[in-house]
Amino acid sequence: MTQILSAAPVRKKITKDLKSECVYLKENGVVPYLKVLLVGNNPSSVIYTNSKKKYCEKIGAKCDIISLNENVHAKQFLDIIENINNDSDVHGCIIQLPLPPHLAHLDIGKLVSSQKDIDGFHPENLYALMSNRDLENHFISCTPKGIVSLLTEYGFQIAGKKVTIIGRSMIVGKPLACLFTNLDATVTLCHSKTHDLHEISKSCDILVSAVGIPNLIDESFLSDKKNQIVIDVGMNSDSSGNLCGDVDFEKVKDLVYAITPVPGGVGPMTIISLMQNLLQASKKRLSL
Ligand code: NAD
Repeated sequence: MTQILSAAPVRKKITKDLKSECVYLKENGVVPYLKVLLVGNNPSSVIYTNSKKKYCEKIGAKCDIISLNENVHAKQFLDIIENINNDSDVHGCIIQLPLPPHLAHLDIGKLVSSQKDIDGFHPENLYALMSNRDLENHFISCTPKGIVSLLTEYGFQIAGKKVTIIGRSMIVGKPLACLFTNLDATVTLCHSKTHDLHEISKSCDILVSAVGIPNLIDESFLSDKKNQIVIDVGMNSDSSGNLCGDVDFEKVKDLVYAITPVPGGVGPMTIISLMQNLLQASKKRLSL
C-alpha cells in the first residue's frame, strides 16, 4: 500500500515544539516578529501571505503583512526594507514573490539583511548551505528544508539515495540539490533542457518535481518496481481553478512507494520551516 506523506502529523508535532519555544522566548523578553512584504494583490500571493500570518500567530509569534500598492516606487519599497533591517524588534522579513515587473530588476536575495532573511535567499545564507558550514547560524531555504524534514519525520534515510530533482529555481531546485548533497545523497538536477528526463527519473529513489506544470509527472516517469518516493512541490491551478501539483496523483499513487499530496504535503512544510527559521532568528536576540 502506498504511503501518503501528509504534512499533518508532522505539523502537529512540530507546532507543539514551536509553541513551547515561543513561550520560552517571550518569557525571556523576546516576542518573535515577522514582517511580510506583499506588493499588489495577486490572489495566490494573498492566500500564501495570509497562511503564513495565521500559522505565525498560531505558534504565538507576531506577524505584520505590509501590503503595498502594485505601482509602489522602487525607492519607497527599498526604504521600507531598510527600515525593517534596522528595526531591532523585527526578527524575520520575507518578500512575497512574484514582484511586479517594474521591481523585477532588484536583486531580491540581497535586500533583506542576512540575519533576518528567514527565506534563506541571501548570498551569505546560500554560501553556508553550499559549503555545509555553520548552518546553525544561517537560514536554509524553506521549501528544501521542509522536504527534508518531511522525509526525516517519516523515517526515510537520505544518505546514499539517488535523488532526481526536476526544476532548477533558486528557491527550490538548486538549494534542494545542495541540501540533499550535504546529506550524502547523489543528486541529478534536471530542467527544461534535460535530455532523457524520463530515463533519469525512472532510475532514482526519490523524485522531486518543482516545475509548475499540472499533471506533468505520470507513469512514464516512474520505475515499474513501485519503490520510489515522489515529492510534489508544484502549486498550480487545475482547469477548475483548484490547487494541484505537478504530479498526476491518481495515475501515479499506486505505482510508487510513497508520495506527497497536494494540497497538504510540501506547502505546509514550507510554512513550518519558515517559522523554525523565525524562531532561530529570534533566539539570537536572547544573547544580546
Ligand atoms: P520556476 O517556476 O522558477 O521554474 C520552473 C523550473 O522547471 C525551471 O527550472 C525549468 O527549467 C523547469 N521546467 C519547466 N518546464 C519543464 C519541463 N517540461 N520539463 C522539465 N523541467 C521543466 O520554479 P519554482 O519557482 O521552483 O516553482 C515550481 C513550482 O513549485 C510552481 O508550481 C510553484 O508554485 C511551486 N512552489 C511550491 C512551493 C511550496 O511551498 N510547495 C514553493 C515554491 C514553489
